Parts: sequence; structure tokens; C-alpha cells
Amino acid sequence: MSMNMHDTICSISTPQGIGAIAIVRMSGPQSFAIASRLFRFDFDSLHPYEAKYAELFDRNQLVDQVMVLKYVAPHSYTGEDMVEISCHGSTYIQQKILELLIEQGSRMANPGEYTMRAFMNGKMDLPQAEAVGDLIDSQSEASHHLAVNQLKGAFSAKISELRARFMEFASLLELELDFSEEDVQFANRDRLSELLDELKTEVSGLIDSFKTGNAIKSGIPVVIIGKPNVGKSTLLNALLRDERAIVSNIPGTTRDTIEDILNVGGVTFRFIDTAGIRNSDDEIENFGIERTYQAVSKADIILYMVDVTETSVDEIREEIAFLQEEVDMAGKKLMIIANKIDHLTEMPRHLHPLMEDYDLVYVSAKRKVNVEEIEEKLLQWADQHKRTDSTMLTNVRHYDIFLKIRDSIRNIEKGLADGIPTDLVAIDVRQALQLLGMVTGEIATDDILNLVFGKFCIGK
Ligand code: GDP
Repeated sequence: MSMNMHDTICSISTPQGIGAIAIVRMSGPQSFAIASRLFRFDFDSLHPYEAKYAELFDRNQLVDQVMVLKYVAPHSYTGEDMVEISCHGSTYIQQKILELLIEQGSRMANPGEYTMRAFMNGKMDLPQAEAVGDLIDSQSEASHHLAVNQLKGAFSAKISELRARFMEFASLLELELDFSEEDVQFANRDRLSELLDELKTEVSGLIDSFKTGNAIKSGIPVVIIGKPNVGKSTLLNALLRDERAIVSNIPGTTRDTIEDILNVGGVTFRFIDTAGIRNSDDEIENFGIERTYQAVSKADIILYMVDVTETSVDEIREEIAFLQEEVDMAGKKLMIIANKIDHLTEMPRHLHPLMEDYDLVYVSAKRKVNVEEIEEKLLQWADQHKRTDSTMLTNVRHYDIFLKIRDSIRNIEKGLADGIPTDLVAIDVRQALQLLGMVTGEIATDDILNLVFGKFCIGK
């Protein structure tokens, strides 16, 4: 993705297809010159940020009546001169305007190129640019909240704090190099270890927050398991109702595949590995198969479904014990769903002993009885585990870098403990600072930029 910043770029920035209106936008040094050739009024006389109703022509042919808006550098999204044309949303008109802009000397924007220019022109740092992508993808209140916080710079502020601590650390090390008398050294060592402790706590806090942050962003992973015909797909359908309609598979969103997404009370739950449930040829034949283990190991919440008329406390306990041998269940929630209560004439009691150890919900998936109790329990769990107020790592790229920062801190700690010369310890401190710079984008290699902006859609 080589991107020449001197080009003037254009794209349709609204979704593909027909709509009431569509927005075509253009950014770069030639924007005003190019736009002026498509209109008959004096484009130069248009005030910045003034929207004007105008006719757009292809030579002598009227293409559309549009609203045109002018942004003057540096006060625009990209920091460059920009023109936005709101036209009628026919695919023909959109394409036609785009062709005219290209014919007049602009080129198609690459994915994320507007936001990348905004980053390059100092309009935002890298985490903020990434938050723009997250904001577009956000499908629940909680994930929206996280993205907005990051966009406002809460995450970047956290990085600055960390940087300040590492800088203090580095300067203390330097002092030590300058004055190696005993007393100075001891005074510094106290502050050094204090700083190191703070850094360790902050960094591992962030690393630990990733699982949660990522779950909020992409949905808390839930799996439904159980023998064939106990009613897993019936339950899934009952839970999802018409929710499935909101799942998008637009290129450029963070999800690669269409998944079953359930929004409850502003929290997203993501049902993993449900394809197997629906496809009866691929039915999970046996509770104890590898595939189930894998799904369970990826999930935070496991809905273990049984047919209430065909099971016993002993059997369920046995199956769960089996599962626990294969998968580390620490931190996971297992909920037993006893289905098909409509077959019974009175509320079943025979499974009650299980309640001592597990959440047990009696339902009829088919008749949609008590299904909302499952939703309530899902939400309860989320409320207990997911806080969205603090700063969290939500981004895999950040997470990977923070793992390396933790390594640097460990090296520093070990270096100090082993009495390694201070100038060698300083190398690890510089390494950590560099890694922080990679998060914010102060150090932005092509690889990093490709990773971040390659995921965006065209027009953003
Ligand atoms: P899966 O193999 O676990 O996905 O099970 P299905 O959801 O395909 O259900 C198997 C059969 O049980 C179907 O005929 C469903 O209609 C039926 N079934 C599912 N839930 C209930 C229920 O609550 N009550 C009754 N009576 N039948 C159910």
C-alpha cells in the first residue's frame, strides 16, 4: 500500500448501493481546482464550510443537483483541502461523479487513506485512528463506549503516563552513571524500584484487560453444547430471534465471518462454532469430541444443554467432569440448560441438586418458555466481569506490543537485580519507550501503517 500524499484522492464514502443520498469526497491539494471544473458557479468564492446547492455537470450534461461543501486545510478531517459532494444516491450518479473527479485528476482513495492522512498530518495519533475503525464497527453500547473513549484520547493519555514514568526511570539511570557514589546510588535505587513496580502493575493491568476489552469489542464468546437433538439450534434461534439481521459482513469490518451475535442490554454476545449445530450432517455426535473441547476453550460462557426428560444428575455430573479433564474451565461460566420442560406436566425437581454447584435454567426452547432467564444470566455475568469505565486494551496490535513491553520490564528488573551495568539496563528502557512509540504511531513503519489502515474500508 504505497500512498503518495501529494495525490488528490476521491471515493464514495457512503455504503455501496442505492440510498436517498450518497457522499462523494475528495481530499488533497487539487481538490478545489478539480471541483471548480464540475460546477458553473465560482467555486473559489465559496466560503469554507459553506454548503452550497449546485448543479454538477459532465461537460454540458447535467449529472445531478447536489450539495457541495468545502473544507480548507488544515481544518478538515484529513488536514488537507477537502470537498464533499452529497448527491442523490443512485449507483449511476455516484459512479459518474467519481469518474468525473478521476478524469479531472484525482485518483481512487485506498482503504483508510483519509484517516491515514489525518494521522500523517497530526490530526490524530494511531490509537485514535484505530478507534475510528472501531467506532464504525461498533455494534453495541459497550463497544461504542470503548471506541469513543479511545477516540477522545483516553488511551493515548494512558500511554503518555507510562512514557513519563519510563522517562523518569531513564533519567534516574543516567544520574547514576554520572554520580556513582554510594549514597546517590541508594537514593535512586529506591525510586527506581518504586517506578518499576508502578510500571509493572500498569502494564500487566492493561494486558489483563485485553481479554475483557476484546470481548466487549467483538462480543463475549458463548458456546452451546449438548448431545444431538437436545434442542441447541432451537434455543439459538429463540435467543437470536431477529437479532441476526444486524450482523454485517461488509468488507473492512473487524469480523471475517458472519457470526451469530446477540445484543442484550447493550452487551454483545458472540455464539461461537454454531455452524455445526445447524448443520445436521456435521452434528456433534458425542459430547466428548475434540471440536466441542475447542469451542469450549474459546468460550467465556458455556451453555450445556440437556433434554430434561432424558437425563439425570449423575449423568450430567459425569459429563461435566469429563469436560473439566479436557479443558481448563478456570474463569469460565458453565450454565446447565434443561430443555423440553413442555414435555412434563409439572416443574421437574430431579435436577435440583445440581443447583448447589451450577446455574440451572429450565426452559422450553421450542415454546420460548424461560428463555429470557438465560439472557438475564448472561447479562449478570457480563456485568460482574466487564467494566467499561477504565482504560482497556481492545486492539490485538496494542496487545502484542504490550506483551513485548512486559518483557522489557522483566529484563530491566532482572538487570537491576543482577547488578548489570546501568548503561546496559538503559537499553531495555529505551526499547520499552520505542515500543510505546509504536503504539501511538510516533514510530510508524510501513508495516505498522499497512496493518492499521489496510483493515479500513475505502472511503474512510
Ligand atoms: P440440536 O440437535 O441440539 O440442535 O436440537 P434441535 O434444536 O434440532 O432440536 C431437536 C428436536 O427437538 C426438534 O424436533 C425440535 O423441534 C425439538 N425441540 C427443541 N426444543 C424443544 C422443546 O423445548 N420442547 C419440545 N417438545 N421439543 C423441542
